[in-house]
Amino acid sequence: MNILVTGGAGYIGSHTCVALLEAGHSVIIADNLSNSKRENVEKIMRLVDKEVTFYEIDVTDEEAVDVIFRNYNIDGVIHFAGHKAVGESVEKPLDYYCNNIVSTIVLTKACKKYDVRRFVFSSSATVYGDNTVPFVESMNLLPTTNPYGETKAMSERILTDIAKSNPAFSVSLLRYFNPVGAHESGLIGEVPSGIPNNLMPYVTQVAKGNLKKLQVFGNDYPTVDGTGVRDYIHVMDLAEGHVAALENLTEGVHIYNLGTGKGTSVLELVNAFEEANGIEVPYEVVGRRPGDIASCYADVSKAERELGWTAKRDVISMCWDAWRFEKNNFLRLPTMLNR
Ligand code: NAD
Ligand code: UDP
Repeated sequence: MNILVTGGAGYIGSHTCVALLEAGHSVIIADNLSNSKRENVEKIMRLVDKEVTFYEIDVTDEEAVDVIFRNYNIDGVIHFAGHKAVGESVEKPLDYYCNNIVSTIVLTKACKKYDVRRFVFSSSATVYGDNTVPFVESMNLLPTTNPYGETKAMSERILTDIAKSNPAFSVSLLRYFNPVGAHESGLIGEVPSGIPNNLMPYVTQVAKGNLKKLQVFGNDYPTVDGTGVRDYIHVMDLAEGHVAALENLTEGVHIYNLGTGKGTSVLELVNAFEEANGIEVPYEVVGRRPGDIASCYADVSKAERELGWTAKRDVISMCWDAWRFEKNNFLRLPTMLNR
């Protein structure tokens, strides 16, 4: 299939392009490089020794998107492009609503015009809110605590309504849990801008000596050791989940959790990182981070049953690969030392 991958130069998109190309599909990337670099596209091609078509465009730009649909016989769209920083979304809600919602509308309009029937969307476990774990696709969604989460819930609703109105349209809403790690080659991975907000990128910065110590946000949650529990998933497992979703897509709307089904606490992740890489990660326990929930992990039985997909890589592999990418790609950043 010819797949249009929006945001394909970014973290999850680049790994998914590798998985798509390895599965024999052709890839057209549309990315405005607002949170990624062009060299990622070259790295994807180097990793699989195949060509990729790249358009540096903003996917909220209807004209620019139309050019791609006009020039290529697109069989499906995987829509990753979007802003993703929770805290920033609280400060700049308009930017988040514009980018994340308008992009979905522009792309689905083009799908309608050019009769493209397959659409895979990057959603997030954040749409479950503070539900009871494990999160199951059939649960009623609870309000999220930030505009970012709302853009995901709204995009899900928009895509569901479109699919209802056009029975030939096939939509897969993929709710990611916590993607971490990097491609096993160490060539592509996650490049957070500035001081990371997420746990694994923060841990790798501490391990490298760029940051003094990890702050553990709360140890009084009702969890195994009091620290927050999440379902970390290796980004290559996540990438392969997209290929499975695309290849098994049938008419209508299908929602899948992409996680491992296993919860890991903050301290368990820190211990796994130390064990995997033989490096100490100093930490201190501080207060809870506003908006955090105690536990978030997936019921993954639906993806297994309907897509034949399960995550294969364990937390130790996630820690190896996150660290390999960090070591291969970054120098010490002295400006971060003060925190
Ligand atoms: P990322 O920032 O690395 O990738 C997103 C890419 O989209 C970037 O390359 C960016 O330049 C591009 N982009 C943003 N707005 C664009 C626009 N208007 N036009 C064209 N390109 C645009 O993020 P990621 O971690 O790879 O996340 C991909 C998707 O998955 C996002 O929609 C994100 O919300 C979702 N998601 C991510 C996580 C996570 O933890 N990383 C969890 C759940 C859901
Ligand atoms: N966390 C932490 N210190 C950090 C970053 C995160 O203790 O510097 C905790 C956070 O409170 C949560 C878990 O690690 O329990 C995962 O946080 P992350 O931001 O990576 O993912 P999210 O909370 O969005 O699922």
